[in-house]
Amino acid sequence: MYYDPPLADGYGRRFPYLRLSVTDVCNFKCSYCLPDGYEKTYSDPFLSANEVRRLVTAFSEMGTWKVRLTGGEPTVRPDFCDLARIVALTPGIEKTAFTTNGYKLPQRARDYFNAGLRAINISIDSLDPRRFHEITGHNRLEEVVDGVRAALEAGFESVKINTVLLKGLNDDEIDGFLSFIENRPVSLRFIELMQTGDNLTYFRKRHIPATVVKERLLARGWRLRAREDGAGPAMEYEHPDYRGRIGIIAPYAKDFCATCNRLRVSARGHLHLCLFGAGGYDLRPLLQDDGQIEELKGMAVNLMQRKRAGHFLHDGDTGTRQHLASVGG
Ligand code: SAM
Ligand code: SF4
Repeated sequence: MYYDPPLADGYGRRFPYLRLSVTDVCNFKCSYCLPDGYEKTYSDPFLSANEVRRLVTAFSEMGTWKVRLTGGEPTVRPDFCDLARIVALTPGIEKTAFTTNGYKLPQRARDYFNAGLRAINISIDSLDPRRFHEITGHNRLEEVVDGVRAALEAGFESVKINTVLLKGLNDDEIDGFLSFIENRPVSLRFIELMQTGDNLTYFRKRHIPATVVKERLLARGWRLRAREDGAGPAMEYEHPDYRGRIGIIAPYAKDFCATCNRLRVSARGHLHLCLFGAGGYDLRPLLQDDGQIEELKGMAVNLMQRKRAGHFLHDGDTGTRQHLASVGG
């Protein structure tokens, strides 16, 4: 497909994938993300349905075909299903996804599917109810696990589980997670804990490299799948005896950024060229009228030239990101 102008950076990377945060608010208190819960810091509102429509229209006209709604917890927005519908119905958008902590998922999975969502990532950091409570501040493991069933039954084409690897909290559960996916057609992705502005002490205590999982998988007969065209930075493993797959997301690994295919827009309309890049560029002034879409596209294309080859996390530089709830992980 030919796009004029296409979203591409100075390193030859294309950006078919937009992660759009729709709120900073979250109802969980994950110990690595919002240990004290959500605290309101700005008074200006989150993007409206019309602003979302204009943003996604502009991006799709530049080659974006996949949009993930995230947050904070995206489903706390009362109009979440309306937003999903707007995105899913935008011409050119082929896949509408979201990431959720699974709150009330058993009751709501079908509504989400009916709104046009087809891919869901559910965060589960422990399969032990007490530890799940300790990590998230909520005694809701049973509900979230039942949410996985509900998502599969509702017909989601892709059901993934996000598990942040935490030393001393869940690194002894890797075999338990493998059993969990033995008979479930889901992809469980171990995510290496990332340092943010707020979590340095926690990071030093809990970070473990994702290679720990890789070694265990290889020892148990798991094999790395060939990377599909256009796939993101996750490495995916499969095993003939398991219906599910395992993904590893290792942001500190060499070449992680080389396969970057995504851009992020915050809940107040700031374009972030990198999860850990500084600042963010305010697109909101160009989201106020349908007549501004061409100007918005021009601005986005120009900003792509500022995208850096990679992040500087190895040097402890987390950009200005206090926590991932502010731009969607
Ligand atoms: N609230 C939703 C959820 O938790 O699924 C969506 C937003 S959350 C920021 C998106 C993903 O980022 C979650 O899977 C979460 O576990 C992950 N995450 C948050 N902070 C992280 C960190 N410091 N390092 C690695 N992953 C993190
Ligand atoms: Fe909320 Fe998600 Fe952050 Fe947990 S990881 S506190 S659920 S935004």
